[in-house]
Amino acid sequence: MRLNNQRESGNVEDRRGSGFGGGGEGFGGRRGGIGIGSIAVALVASYFFGVDPMVVLGLLSDMEPSGQARVAARKPPAEDEMARFVSKVLGSTEETWRQIFSENRASYREPKLVLFSGVTPTACGTGQSAMGPFYCPADQKVYIDLVFYRDLKERFHAPGEFAEAYVIAHEVGHHVQNLLGISDKVRQAQQGVSRAKVNALSVRLELQADCFAGVWGFRANEAKQIIEPGEINQALTAASAIGDDRLQQQTQGRIVPESFTHGTSEQRMRWFRRGLDSGDMRQCDTFKAASL
Ligand SMILES: [Zn+2]
Repeated sequence: MRLNNQRESGNVEDRRGSGFGGGGEGFGGRRGGIGIGSIAVALVASYFFGVDPMVVLGLLSDMEPSGQARVAARKPPAEDEMARFVSKVLGSTEETWRQIFSENRASYREPKLVLFSGVTPTACGTGQSAMGPFYCPADQKVYIDLVFYRDLKERFHAPGEFAEAYVIAHEVGHHVQNLLGISDKVRQAQQGVSRAKVNALSVRLELQADCFAGVWGFRANEAKQIIEPGEINQALTAASAIGDDRLQQQTQGRIVPESFTHGTSEQRMRWFRRGLDSGDMRQCDTFKAASL
């Protein structure tokens, strides 16, 4: 992707490495600096008590008075680059959706994006890395553990930056649905109906988020030519790779359509493509579509 001219979002909350319950801080102003003094204390303590020095450091880092010499807790450079990339993609979705909302005389409330590792608390319960990236409507935050991108590449064979961006754009699509009241309506319609109906509604919600991701792709590319040749196919591969039928085949070895919650590979590609070709949200009414 061409993101050189793209500003980073100010809405990224970096909780990586802070462990469960760690309150994040804005991007760049990361907490977790550890003073030289506390490293010495940790080493001494671990020597005498047989405790892992990192455990002691973890206990000490929150008590550290500010303003003294610090050894910054650095992330591996590759992960920091990944975090900057995600932040730029989020920035691009902010510009795009702000524009679309204002064209419709509405104002766009930007979601936050939380980078975490392992587990993290959310207003929707405990977020876990194994869940893959997700959006929590109750706190209006997108959650992602960047290890998911390794899975996308290695396990789902869907490499490429636009594929990675599509994942963020899909979650932001859920945020747009939340702002528009669509998610609430779906949740209401899911009360007291059969499991098959609940899942069918969920599929429509997911395919619409794919279509909204496509709308972002079209509009952002129109504004800043961010998509490079061949990248659309990469994103389609990702949409296809995380279709329910493909995932079920991989995990259960068989396909049970009533239990689909995201749509088949073919459907996910089609609805993403529909947004990407038109750049028009009105093309994304999966709830009115006779067939998906
Ligand atoms: Zn989704």
